[in-house]
Amino acid sequence: MAMTQTKYVFITGGVLSGLGKGITTASIGLLLKSRGLRVTAIKIDPYLNCDAGTMNPYQHGEVFVLDDGTEVDMDLGSYERFLDVSLTGDHNITTGKVYRAVIEKERRGEYLGQTVQIIPHVTDEIKAAIKRVAEREGVDVALVELGGTVGDIESMPFLEAIRQMHQELGHSNVAFVHTTLVPVLGAVGEQKTKPTQHSVKELRALGIQPDVIVGRCEEPLKPEIKRKIALFCDVPPEAVISDPDVPFVYEVPLVFEEQGLTDYLLGRLGLRPRAQDLTEWKAFLGALKGAERTVRVALVGKYTALKDSYVSYVEALTHAGARHRARVEIQWIEADEFHEGRLEDVDGLIVPVGFGHRGAEGKIRAIRCARERKLPFLGICYGFQLAVIEFARHVMGLEGANSTEFDPTPPHPVIDLLPEQKGIRELGATMRLGAQPVIVREGTLAHALYGTTRVEERHRHRYEVNPDYVESIESAGLIFSGRSPDGRLMEIAELPQREHPFFIASQFHPEFKSRPLSPRPLFLGLIEACLARSCQRA
Ligand code: GLN
Repeated sequence: MAMTQTKYVFITGGVLSGLGKGITTASIGLLLKSRGLRVTAIKIDPYLNCDAGTMNPYQHGEVFVLDDGTEVDMDLGSYERFLDVSLTGDHNITTGKVYRAVIEKERRGEYLGQTVQIIPHVTDEIKAAIKRVAEREGVDVALVELGGTVGDIESMPFLEAIRQMHQELGHSNVAFVHTTLVPVLGAVGEQKTKPTQHSVKELRALGIQPDVIVGRCEEPLKPEIKRKIALFCDVPPEAVISDPDVPFVYEVPLVFEEQGLTDYLLGRLGLRPRAQDLTEWKAFLGALKGAERTVRVALVGKYTALKDSYVSYVEALTHAGARHRARVEIQWIEADEFHEGRLEDVDGLIVPVGFGHRGAEGKIRAIRCARERKLPFLGICYGFQLAVIEFARHVMGLEGANSTEFDPTPPHPVIDLLPEQKGIRELGATMRLGAQPVIVREGTLAHALYGTTRVEERHRHRYEVNPDYVESIESAGLIFSGRSPDGRLMEIAELPQREHPFFIASQFHPEFKSRPLSPRPLFLGLIEACLARSCQRA
């Protein structure tokens, strides 16, 4: 039986970063999938870190966590949401990983007698890493997004590797999509093509001729601008695609489809176009755009100035909102600046992920306020741990209750290091990570939301509820409705619904598994409770 010849589509970026290459890649993926093709997506990050886990979210945005526990760039979150797939650590290739593999091979003597060089050894390793994923999955098309901007020193070995792949696999099996910025200048609002021309020139100097140019612009590209880019960059006018501002990123695939991008790419790769099916996607978008109600959710966080730190929360709320035909408006509150007045006009509160002591006390005040005012509350990971601390301090009267993450010797260490974390010194990829089973207790809010007693959710933490306090916390009225299968680790905490309409927190991160067409139960529950609250207020 003939094996599928995988086609590769490489997505590069020019002019500057932050052009939404991740969304472009995810959108192309969705469009190809909508034509019946099997698709996967790979992200290359040219930094020397082995993974994104040790980076501050101010650097590249949120650290996304996969089922297998790899901590990756947030673009993989977009791929998972648009393609509705679960990816693995192999879908994220970094310079750190590539060099580590090459150096390990050198030490094992696999290059015996040779001088180990960027070309061919590093480029071979890059090509092998890309092909390994595509071949393992047997996909028709593998999309490979190259992070950074053409011209960066770090990107060079990757650009060279993808140039070689075009040469080796042949023109009909490899296509290049280049994304650039088209700024609008002056009172007349002229769309400028020069930055695009320059970045394409740079790409061509490296031996890569783009097939498609996606122009990021605040407005649709004018026909004469498309023609100009086509002429100067040596592509047909129909291969110049507008990527204008749209209210929801989920609209981007439709904007591309209308301009014929899918047909163009299929033709270029010699794939037979099949009938398009975007029915469900369009229904989801319709629900988003046609939202009849609005709920306001406060998010008390630490990196609120950079909203990219919390992308998965925003998306999970959006998905859950769409299911209830509600628009979710997020009120961003910097934890250090929190005061009670900030929760006056919101319908619910989220306290998300966090590390270190800064912001903890502000978040604890916010949780107390939500508990006392019976405001719907969802705490996640750090938010879960802080909810336990708040309960211990203010309901149980355990003065000074704290996490050993912030205070090494508190009088009541209700949150403490996981036993398996105690001897760990290295910080990379050493947390409790990835999908882990959670057993949900029947008759609880968690069970009502999930509708089942066993779920899998993704984790990323070092601390946990101290087992010595579990019994006393439960007797005081905070129920641990989800636990690890051996019963040792507390996974979900909730207040009984007769006391509070919706107060629930999870040690895991449900936001990582939310998809447009399958919102996650804890977020659905929060939105439903917020809607009930906003009706009361009206
Ligand atoms: N800092 C906490 C821990 O390591 C919470 C982590 C998180 O919110 N992801 O356990």
